[in-house]
Amino acid sequence: MQEPHRPHFSYIFSITQHRTDVAPTRTLLQWRAMNHQVIRHDLLRRLPPERLTLLRQLGDLADRGGVSLYLVGGVVRDLLLKRENWDLDLTVEGDGIAFARAVSERYRAGLAVFERFATSRLVFPEGLKIDIATTRRESYAQPAALPDVEPASLNEDLYRRDFTINAMAIQLNSALFGRFYDPYGGRQDLRAKTLRVLHRCSFRDDPTRIFRAIRFEQRFGFRLERTTMRLLAQAASTNLIQQLSGPRLQNEIVLLLAERDPVRAIVRLAQLKLLRFLHRRLCYTKNVRPVVTAVPKALVWCARRFPEFVTDRPTVYLMALSSQSSPAVVATMIRRLALSREQARNLSAGGSRIDRVWKQLIDRKTVRPSQVYRLLAGFSNEALVLLLAKQVAIQHKVRLSLLKRHLMAYMKSRTFKTVLTGGDLQTMGLKPGPQYKTILEGLLDARIDGMITTEAEERAFIQKRIGLQRRRAVS
Ligand code: ATP
Repeated sequence: MQEPHRPHFSYIFSITQHRTDVAPTRTLLQWRAMNHQVIRHDLLRRLPPERLTLLRQLGDLADRGGVSLYLVGGVVRDLLLKRENWDLDLTVEGDGIAFARAVSERYRAGLAVFERFATSRLVFPEGLKIDIATTRRESYAQPAALPDVEPASLNEDLYRRDFTINAMAIQLNSALFGRFYDPYGGRQDLRAKTLRVLHRCSFRDDPTRIFRAIRFEQRFGFRLERTTMRLLAQAASTNLIQQLSGPRLQNEIVLLLAERDPVRAIVRLAQLKLLRFLHRRLCYTKNVRPVVTAVPKALVWCARRFPEFVTDRPTVYLMALSSQSSPAVVATMIRRLALSREQARNLSAGGSRIDRVWKQLIDRKTVRPSQVYRLLAGFSNEALVLLLAKQVAIQHKVRLSLLKRHLMAYMKSRTFKTVLTGGDLQTMGLKPGPQYKTILEGLLDARIDGMITTEAEERAFIQKRIGLQRRRAVS
């Protein structure tokens, strides 16, 4: 059986020897000094009891398989920060995929294996997801490419990570359960609220880390350590990000915009001139800024007023960001980010169509609920939020309350249905044809406006329409 824990000072030397091309942002001596700070910790007790029990069981399973098992990455960081994080990332010094298979069998969990990256994802019957990887070192054939990986020690695995605060681990094997590994000073950086890359090539190897840096900086209110900031600015000023595939760039942008307060992150993207990677003409202009800034207010209002209202927040922010852009710019952005059909539809609707409807809505001639319904029918929830954000941005109180009233009326109208359908029209003697749509829409409008409320009234309404049509046909 492999010894679960091996001393790891030597790895530090071998890592820096491997990477003669890179100078770490701390000196070797400092790394070594930190390496001695390996301590025991009761961090795991901060997890919910059932998770803790599961991790103990997995540690036992790892003992039996003769491998070392660690909890690693963001969850360790969040345990230290006392923040909830339900993503369990595990890493195995040994064959991680074989271990994942054993876990899958034991718990009847679904398993997806990604051989190329030596990673796997387990989905437990009750929905819990756990990622299990083999500890590995990564090399990049060229900047921004996906890495080639090969098995390596825990320390090397931690060294390939994005920031020191994400490069800590806790051992789960029974004899060393709870042992805390922090070879690169992550805990010290957490205390100092600092984001620090592990080596100088970090952003060049993987420019997605630029977005990750902004994400963590804004989420935790941290600052980028000086050298890290310089390296980030350097990487941002090149065209490295251009080399990321659409889905990889989209993933980072969406994660950034899904943060609790993405407005600050957007400002940071603009400061670092990173919006150009979505489109070279996309700018955070004085016209765009108020709309983006108004999105949180609009989202809160909609969530309070309409509890069932589901929106894809990142899409709303993207719509707001591109709300002053031409359709051609938006179309290129959609392609660059490889957006889904639904996201693309939303983004395309974010411009002139919304503006046209907006004008009509705040025009006092739009008074009937059915008129509002017809204007807004077909708009996604995201488009409704953007519409409201545009009005919030203008700061015109009277029009804002008018628009809010319209939105409330519209949401109510969405629940209306007619009792009678096309089948009933046929039974009532009307030949199928395009007039069905007109009559049924008229019927729904009458319901929405409260002109009819019962089935009998619906029938009378239709009879009247049919009669009208027949008279028209005769004359
Ligand atoms: P979040 O709290 O947003 O989920 P996280 O730190 O848990 O953040 P994940 O994307 O879930 O981030 O990744 C888990 C861990 O994998 C990270 O903590 C980090 O150690 C490592 N990691 C993820 N992406 C990268 C990357 N691009 N480069 C280096 N390490 C990465």
